Amino acid sequence: MEPRILGLHHVTAIAGNAPRNYDFYTRVLGLRMVKKTVNFDDPGTYHFYFGDEHGSAGTILTFFPWEHITAGRRGTGQATEIGYSVPAGSFDFWIKRFEANGVTYNTPSEKLGERYLTFLDPDGLKFELIESKTPDTRTPWTTPEVGAEVATKGFHTVTLTLADPARTAEILTDVFGYTLLEQHVNRSRYVTDAVPTARYIDLVAAPGEARAITAGGSVHHIAFRVKDDEAELYFRQKLVAKGLQPTPQIDRDYFHSVYFREPGGVLFELATDNPGFTVDEPLAELGTHLMLPTQHEHLRAQLEQRLPKVG
Ligand code: ZN
Repeated sequence: MEPRILGLHHVTAIAGNAPRNYDFYTRVLGLRMVKKTVNFDDPGTYHFYFGDEHGSAGTILTFFPWEHITAGRRGTGQATEIGYSVPAGSFDFWIKRFEANGVTYNTPSEKLGERYLTFLDPDGLKFELIESKTPDTRTPWTTPEVGAEVATKGFHTVTLTLADPARTAEILTDVFGYTLLEQHVNRSRYVTDAVPTARYIDLVAAPGEARAITAGGSVHHIAFRVKDDEAELYFRQKLVAKGLQPTPQIDRDYFHSVYFREPGGVLFELATDNPGFTVDEPLAELGTHLMLPTQHEHLRAQLEQRLPKVG
C-alpha cells in the first residue's frame, strides 16, 4: 500500500521569554511538557515541546523561546492560526480562565459550521479553540485546573494565509492526498481521510495583505506526519518530482525530518512517528529533564547554568 500523510505531526513557533512561555502552556492551557531540550542549531536556546501524555503526533506544539526577539507580523505566506479541538460546552470555562490570566481573546464565533474561540498567547501567537463537528475521541492531558471535560485534545486545523493558495492547494491534493472539503468566501478547507483527527488545513486567500514577518509570536513551520522513514523518503521523492527542493532527511532525535518551502511561502516539514519522545526518558518523566542531543552533551554544565529555570 502506498504511504499516506497522516495529518499534522507538530507545529513549531517562536516565543520570547522562556519561563512565561512554559507557564502559559503548562499551567494556563494545561498541556504537558513532553520534552525540554535545546535548539539543535543554537544550543544556547531552549526547544520546548508541549502535547498530550505521550507527545502524540497531532498534539505537539513546540517553541524556540528567544528572550529578545522582536514581534512578528501576521500576513501572507504564513500559518496564521492554530486550531485546537475542545469539547463542546467548554468555552465558558476557557473565557473565565482567559479573564483570570489576562489572556487576550475574542467573542466566540462560527465558521464552516463550527463554533470557535480565538485567543492570543503572551507573544501574540494566534489560536482557536474549536468545537469540532466531527467526533474527537482523543484522551487529553489533564491538570488539577484543566479537567478532561474542557481540556484541549490536540490540533483540529491549521490555517495558512496566502496571497494565492492555488499552488499550495496543489501540494496538499496532488502530493499529500488531501481533498477539498468545504469552501466559504476566501477560506478553503482541505482534509485527509487517512486519520480521524488533526486532519484539516484551511487555506485563506488574502491577495491584498502584506507578507508576514516571522519573529516572536509567529509560527515557524508546520510538520505533517508520516509513519516511518520509508514513507518520508517516498514523499520526499514526490516533492522532488514536483520541482520542489526538500532537504535531505535530518535526525531530530525524536523524529526524522524533511523540510521544504511550499510555493505559497510556508515552511513545511515531514516528520516520522519513529522513534518518539520516550527514546531518552520514560513516559512518566517526559519533559522533566534537560535532554541534550549527543553533539551538545559536552555543553551540559554551561547550559544548565545559563538557561533560565523552568518547571
Ligand atoms: Zn519541526
